[in-house]
Amino acid sequence: MSKRLSILGSTGSIGENTLKVCHNLGDEIEIVYLTANKNADKLIKQANVFHPKAVVIIEESFVEYVKENIPESIDVLVGRTGLLEIAGRNDVDIVMNGLVGSAGMEPTIRSLEAGVNVALSNKESLVMAGSVIESVKKKTGAKIFPVDSEHSAIWQCLTGEDLSDVKKIILTGSGGPFRTRDINTFSEITPKEALNHPNWNMGNKITIDSATMMNKGLEVIEAKWLFGLEANQIEIVIHPESIIHSMIEFFDGSVKAQLGVPDMKIPIQYSLSFPRHVEANWETLDLVKIKNLTFEAPNFDKFPCIKLAYDALKSGGSTPVVLNVANEQAVYQFLNGRIKFIDIPKVIEKTCAVHQWIAEPTLDEILELELWTTDFVNEFN
Ligand code: MG
Repeated sequence: MSKRLSILGSTGSIGENTLKVCHNLGDEIEIVYLTANKNADKLIKQANVFHPKAVVIIEESFVEYVKENIPESIDVLVGRTGLLEIAGRNDVDIVMNGLVGSAGMEPTIRSLEAGVNVALSNKESLVMAGSVIESVKKKTGAKIFPVDSEHSAIWQCLTGEDLSDVKKIILTGSGGPFRTRDINTFSEITPKEALNHPNWNMGNKITIDSATMMNKGLEVIEAKWLFGLEANQIEIVIHPESIIHSMIEFFDGSVKAQLGVPDMKIPIQYSLSFPRHVEANWETLDLVKIKNLTFEAPNFDKFPCIKLAYDALKSGGSTPVVLNVANEQAVYQFLNGRIKFIDIPKVIEKTCAVHQWIAEPTLDEILELELWTTDFVNEFN
């Protein structure tokens, strides 16, 4: 029987790669729902190819346009309400959450509440609501399958192992476009330069996060929740070739790594085909051609966002919520030319420092903190 799949954010980078994977998996996958923010043309195209039961267009002004251009048999839901409703439906086997930023958090919770497993690319969900998500999972038994390449690697390395034998995990990161750039020129970094990632082709938000290395910081927090680890068990190593996607080190000194070409279709497919690794039609790894794999320590002076994320993880409670939302707002301000690249960590640090800390925020408190943080960042800048 085929697996019934809902794709949240189907017109984004993860969504499009998921559809390519679905094409590869053929009859094994049935696409039931597709959702898009405002890319109506792409959504229409996808709906006409995959014939889902329903689609969601978040931008309300496009709803008639979408309806006019897809078969009548496909329902069209609208806005954030439509997205949350689709996310909460239990007539699917798995939800791919490829949404961008904190907007992806509530849909993750809705799907898990409905008892549906989530293939999670939206790392902000766990960064903001790790504890809430943990308790929902316990209640309904639904699972999260990581899609982030590093976490997929750790997941694959942990298969067949006992977590209590693991001393630490080593998350690899490419180092982004500014790894070798002189720190004295960081104040001149333009959005165009920051959007030019050397290895991975991704959406704008995550590409800027890779340039500041906040992406790696968020991944540290994500790993804590996915695998039940402490901050001091999660290490970062810079690996510019992006071939080793992450590693685990056991107490006896044995290290296990997962390798592959930097192609998101691999972790996406594994999240859908788990526990099997099935045939694929894309380029595979040629180590002889690559020849050298290199490693270096992360540079905390150049990339203060990494330390901010570790600090937020140690502080716990509401701090990761504020860290995440402040980062998101600062990234958009940078992209809009309102602040400099080097201001991004400053904005985050200040916002985390002044917020009113809560030990165990509920979902409502997290949503309130999201609004507070958004207002705060946009008022003082
Ligand atoms: Mg990643």
